[in-house]
Amino acid sequence: SRKSKFAEEDLLQRLLNGNKTALGRAITLVESNQFSHRKKAQQLLEDALPHSQNSIRIGITGVPGVGKSTFIESFGSYLIQQGKRVAVLAVDPSSSVSRGSILGDKTRMENLVKEENAFIRPSASGNSLGGVAKKTRESIILCEAAGFDVVLIETVGVGQSETTVHSMTDFFLLLKLAGAGDELQGIKRGIIEMADAIVINKADGDNIKAAREAKLEFNRALQLYPSKESGWKPKVALSSALKQTGIDSVWELISEFQATLKENGYFQKNRKEQNKFWLLQTINEHLKNRFYRNPVMKNELEIQLKAIENNEITAFAAADLLIEKFENLD
Ligand code: GDP
Repeated sequence: SRKSKFAEEDLLQRLLNGNKTALGRAITLVESNQFSHRKKAQQLLEDALPHSQNSIRIGITGVPGVGKSTFIESFGSYLIQQGKRVAVLAVDPSSSVSRGSILGDKTRMENLVKEENAFIRPSASGNSLGGVAKKTRESIILCEAAGFDVVLIETVGVGQSETTVHSMTDFFLLLKLAGAGDELQGIKRGIIEMADAIVINKADGDNIKAAREAKLEFNRALQLYPSKESGWKPKVALSSALKQTGIDSVWELISEFQATLKENGYFQKNRKEQNKFWLLQTINEHLKNRFYRNPVMKNELEIQLKAIENNEITAFAAADLLIEKFENLD
């Protein structure tokens, strides 16, 4: 209707003016699974996209307790002092699996939340990491269209969530703690490989010495990894999110990264690669949903699962049969 068309233009306009309420509403629209909302969201994203380029997307990960929210609070406040506008999004697969959320509780980042130039949004909910990720990715575009030039995407290392966040960010920051000389144990090797910087947090008080040692150790370990396609050599830094030290050097490091990769073209190249990847991901997610949510296919799948249980058919033959059925649905 005419009235709702006006309302949508208004939402876009207010979004582009940097209005945080409009941004919140736009993200809610994107997160909605309702069909009519999906259409509106798609239009809004399309309109927002040309306005969403000038930003840096930073992924932040680390185990619970490492200090992610404290770090984001300090780092975010620092960036706002530098004249930036900072958006914080979260990818938290735990909130979609169980009811509890590792990241999402409201008391976190109490100071940052009060800043005019900060926007904080807890994790989208969804029944798959793919679904949550898609919404987060679309939310990034909306944040950027609303003039947020630093987007922080936080995740806790559950399942594939780091890989997912890595695939939607320009810079990937791994927060670590110094401790017990086992720094290199218990971390998934892949995460180190993804990291553009390892920041050893809680480098304060009695911890400083251990943190410095951990820095040396990580620097040594990083030598063993193959160099990145971008030419960037991952850096190790120390921070105290609590005492707010080392925060400025983390930003310096990211600025250096940005300058280097924009100069050699990899920054833009990487974003294009990510877009292609997300196109494929979106198709995969969509096809999967269409298959599994189709009532006919649900029924057929049950039948084949039983047949497999009774050794009446092989998994491959059953899959062929189901896919053929699916292709012939109309
Ligand atoms: P998250 O689970 O990774 O988000 O971690 P939090 O930010 O909630 O921090 C966990 C605990 O570590 C809290 O009690 C923080 O106050 C504390 N903490 C965070 N950063 C630092 C730091 O730099 N130094 C010290 N000493 N404590 C910190």
